Amino acid sequence: MSLKKTIKKNILLEGKTKKVYSSENPFEVIIHYKDDITSLNGLKRNVIPDKGILNNEITTFIFNLLNNSGIKTHFIRKINNREQLCHKVNIYPLEFVVRNIVSGSLSKRLGMKEGMRISNPIFEIFYKNDNLKDPLINDHHAVFLQIISYKELSDIYKIISNINNVLKKYLFDKNIILVDFKMEFGKDKKNQILLSDEISPDTCRLWDKKTMKKLDKDQFRMGFKEEKIMDVYMEVLKRLNISSSN
Ligand code: UDP
Repeated sequence: MSLKKTIKKNILLEGKTKKVYSSENPFEVIIHYKDDITSLNGLKRNVIPDKGILNNEITTFIFNLLNNSGIKTHFIRKINNREQLCHKVNIYPLEFVVRNIVSGSLSKRLGMKEGMRISNPIFEIFYKNDNLKDPLINDHHAVFLQIISYKELSDIYKIISNINNVLKKYLFDKNIILVDFKMEFGKDKKNQILLSDEISPDTCRLWDKKTMKKLDKDQFRMGFKEEKIMDVYMEVLKRLNISSSN
C-alpha cells in the first residue's frame, strides 16, 4: 500500500450521498461519503450523523472482498474514515439490480408477496434519469439510448452473477440473507468495465437469517428513527467482522 499522502483537488460532482473529487493523479478520484440518506428518488431525505463513516467502511470491506475474489472494481484503498481512493471511470447512467428474494418495487410491480424466494436471480436495469424518475428499462432500451452495447451488457451480467454468488455466500455465513442489491459500473482509461459506486445497507436489502429483521435502508423507508437506522448499519459492520476503528 502506498503511504503517499493523497491530495484532494477539485470537486467533480456531488450526488445525494457522496462527493467525488479529483486527485493529483488524473486517473484516480477521491470519493467522500456524506451522512445524507434519501429514498423515493430523493423526495424523502434526512441526515444521519456518521452514517457516511459506516458506509465507507462497509463498502471498503465488500470491495476488498470482491477484488480478492477476482472481480474488477474501481476501489483502490480507503484513505480515511470518510474517503476512498478509486480508479476514475466513465459511469454508465444505469442501475443494475439483482434480486434473490421478492421485495420492494418487484413485489409491487408483479403483485407478489414479499419474501418469496427467486430460484433464478432476476437482473433488472434502471435508467438513471431524475426527470423520468429512474424508469425500469430492458437491454434493448439501453442499447437504443446509446448508453451501452449488447456485448458490454453481456459482460456485466457475467460480472453481476459472480458478485451475487460471492456476496450471497459470504453474507449467509454471517447469518444475513442478501435479498436484493444495486450496482453501478463504469469504464476506466483502458476501457475495462469496473464495478463502481458503493455496496452498503443503503444499496442492498439485507435480512437477518433467523428473525428476518431488515438490516438496511428499509428502516429509513419505514420511518424509523436515526438511532435505529444506525444500530442496524452497525450490526452489519459487526457481522462483516470489522471494527469501526479500521
Ligand atoms: N436501490 C438503490 N438505489 C436506488 C434504487 C434502488 O440502491 O436508487 C436498491 C435498493 O436499496 C434495493 C434494490 O436496489 O436493495 C432494489 O430496489 P427497488 O427496485 O425495490 O426499489 P425501492 O422500492 O427500494 O426504491
